Amino acid sequence: MKAALKDAKGTKLVLLGTAAGPVPGRPRKMTSHVMFSNGAAYVLDCGLGVTDRFAETGIPFSAPRSIFITHHHFDHNVEYGPLLGWVQGMPLTVRAYGPPPLKQMTSDYISSMRTTINFWAEDLKMKPLETIDVIEVPDAGPVMQDDNVKVSSVVVEHPPVKPALGYRFDFHDRSIAFSGDTTPVEAVAQMAKGADVLVHEAMYVPAVESYVKDQVAKGRPVSVEAFMAHMKADHSPVEDVGRIAAEAGVKTLVLSHLTPAVDSISDDVWRAPAAKYFKGEIIVARDLMVV
Ligand SMILES: [Zn+2]
Ligand SMILES: [Zn+2]
Repeated sequence: MKAALKDAKGTKLVLLGTAAGPVPGRPRKMTSHVMFSNGAAYVLDCGLGVTDRFAETGIPFSAPRSIFITHHHFDHNVEYGPLLGWVQGMPLTVRAYGPPPLKQMTSDYISSMRTTINFWAEDLKMKPLETIDVIEVPDAGPVMQDDNVKVSSVVVEHPPVKPALGYRFDFHDRSIAFSGDTTPVEAVAQMAKGADVLVHEAMYVPAVESYVKDQVAKGRPVSVEAFMAHMKADHSPVEDVGRIAAEAGVKTLVLSHLTPAVDSISDDVWRAPAAKYFKGEIIVARDLMVV
């Protein structure tokens, strides 16, 4: 994987974590991605495991320019603070983009670590992390642009989380769109129009109910009814994902943020419902896969 990235021509997407939900201890980590273009890295979402997975790519910690958060669920933001990675030497110029109250969350995190940051700064004569630049994204529209990429956002449907965002990254050589967590929505098809890659969350409904029952039996503090109601109101069955990819006319569809995130469902089973509608390439995401 490191060789694939090192020898790569052009922009690469690495799927760092591909599991849905805030459940630790699985082979797939919680959701996170990095895009690597011209030596600059752009991180999207920071589920538990993002820092280790990032390190496994071999991309240096000096590379991240920007971090993007789709929405404030644990499986997308719980490791945002730790990834700021002052200890690892991430540049203090890194910027973060995401829904409010990301500014407050960032300063609260840095405050909570102030004692440790100051011990470290004193010990190693380093410049302490005071703050980073945070740009809140409350709505759909242009988010940022630099010499590598133009980024825009779209509002998706993931109640009660408001706003929950999808993002599109237009690099010079390819465009990559992300649904974030959402029910199937037209806004994602519009945003992803003509993109090279659409990374869409995907739920395989027949396996979800048995998974949920199993989780509840193992003592997860939630009822089966409440959990299933949440799944249906908040996530996208994989056939609908195929429909959206077909409407958007993307080249490649990546099924990720898999629900349930169990390895007993084969790639063919994941692909088939989407392939009824979408005739392009369908990739079933795995952690550290390079697209
Ligand atoms: Zn999620
Ligand atoms: Zn979510």
